[in-house]
Amino acid sequence: MRESKSTRLYAPHGPAANSLTRENVLLDQSAVQITGEFVICQGRAGFRKSRLTSGASLLVKPAGLAKLAGWLTVMSLAGCSDAPGRTSVTPGSDSSSKIAVLATTGMIADAARIVGGEQVEVTALMGPGVDPHLYQPTARDQGRLKGAQLIFYNGLHLEGRMVEVFESLAAKKRVVAVSKDLRDDQLLAWQTSAGMHDPHIWFDVKLWQQVVRTMATTYEEFDPPHSADFRRRAQAYLAELDDLDRYCRDRAGELPARQRVLITSHDAFHYFGRAYGFDVVGIQGISTESESGLRALTDAVDLIRARHIKAIFPETSVPRAAIERVAKDSGAVLGAELYSDALGAADGPAGTYAGMIRTNIDHIADALQGADSLRGQ
Ligand SMILES: [Zn+2]
Repeated sequence: MRESKSTRLYAPHGPAANSLTRENVLLDQSAVQITGEFVICQGRAGFRKSRLTSGASLLVKPAGLAKLAGWLTVMSLAGCSDAPGRTSVTPGSDSSSKIAVLATTGMIADAARIVGGEQVEVTALMGPGVDPHLYQPTARDQGRLKGAQLIFYNGLHLEGRMVEVFESLAAKKRVVAVSKDLRDDQLLAWQTSAGMHDPHIWFDVKLWQQVVRTMATTYEEFDPPHSADFRRRAQAYLAELDDLDRYCRDRAGELPARQRVLITSHDAFHYFGRAYGFDVVGIQGISTESESGLRALTDAVDLIRARHIKAIFPETSVPRAAIERVAKDSGAVLGAELYSDALGAADGPAGTYAGMIRTNIDHIADALQGADSLRGQ
């Protein structure tokens, strides 16, 4: 398992300070997840926590919460940090006390509610249309994070601007990356960042089932008296997700292989493409941080023409300018918006994870076939 690995990083030769960046080291993904953008540096003064942009000779801590304690102990010897402690509250031990759970994305919050049932009170940090790559917690969020007993986040650097927050909270409470039990060989590479993985795991329903199992196990450990309840709800939800996965395969199967090309605003759909047999092109990269270059736009236009692609898709959580430009230049129809990194409105068809996945595959299969339900804009 990735979390049990110890990874050694070597800084490049040269200036001791400010020479280490994400580009010139092979970065261990789980280290980023657990420690944020920090590394443990061994310097003359002993162990020291540093940002990735500083330090020369570096050891990255063995990632994973189980080992976090040991490393923070080393750090506290050097006066850097407090050792982590479990909350003294015994949550959910009677029917009146629910576990206060905070989830970052709507997809995670949905699973957390379903599996947690009446034992939990779940709050989602990011609402409909919110882009997790760029999300920074507000003052109100800080209060929510502080008040939560258990925090679920995606990890794999999806919540790129929150890793420091999770790191500091992990010293005080249970903070779980729901992607933590996925094996490296189940994950796709983040093509522009060596050693990192594509975080959009929810688009392969089979991978999301693993996430649901991880959440169930976390609840069981957190609140052992209700283990059987968590297990039972997880089993029922996993069966529902089996049906959802089958539905996606059936709808994808309506399209001949040559028509299975999915062009969207950003690179969110590679897991979807691998699972359901689509070639996937995102006009922006995996994170929405960088804007699409001119080259990416013209490449997309060329591809649309070469493969006679009927429709391309904007996303609800990404600005539409680039994809609209490609549609205009290529003559492809702009299909209905896909839900990529956030759920839709709570009372709408994409207000749940299953609803989001079903809505997307319907939009995709309908539009690429040129069906009547296509809402060209
Ligand atoms: Zn994304």
